[in-house]
Amino acid sequence: MVIGVLALQGAVSEHCRALDSLQVRSKEVRNLDDIIGVDGLIMPGGESTTLRKLLKNTGLWKFIMESELPILGTCAGAILLGKSNDETFQKMDFTVDRNYYGRQIDSFEEILEIENYPNFRGVFIRAPAITDVGISKPIAYCNGEIVGCTDGKNMALTFHPELTSDSYFHEMWLRNIYERSER
Ligand code: GLN
Repeated sequence: MVIGVLALQGAVSEHCRALDSLQVRSKEVRNLDDIIGVDGLIMPGGESTTLRKLLKNTGLWKFIMESELPILGTCAGAILLGKSNDETFQKMDFTVDRNYYGRQIDSFEEILEIENYPNFRGVFIRAPAITDVGISKPIAYCNGEIVGCTDGKNMALTFHPELTSDSYFHEMWLRNIYERSER
């Protein structure tokens, strides 16, 4: 299994390190040649408007839109997976509010509420909120609010799991796509 990490912006090497720690091969994706043959794609955080522009310029937007590739989106990557007033891939059934936390609390860390998994520290950087979840399943909460969800193939996290050493969410996503490919 090879996982592509979108390398146009954001914490690319940190995601690769998380995959390394799980003994999964990673590949940086910058153009259409890079994305051929990957089994899944991580879309890191950054700035969703910039990310959208770069994805369109490289032709990756159209490729991803039309592909069935499993995607893990973190922060800006999660925005692009959900529904928003801005243009997104809309691959998952939830709505995002980009600037939910406002400027006062730009960034913060908090222990998340996760079923049967204590002490995961969520790092939030100008995080969006997941406001309306349809058929996706919530998998993480912060102070009672949904900060992560999955539909099995795709996973959206409003925090940055690559900035802590715990690869819990990377592993969950990989396990989900591996199980799907076995079926
Ligand atoms: N607020 C950013 C956006 O709107 C996302 C921030 C992040 O990815 N850390 O795209």
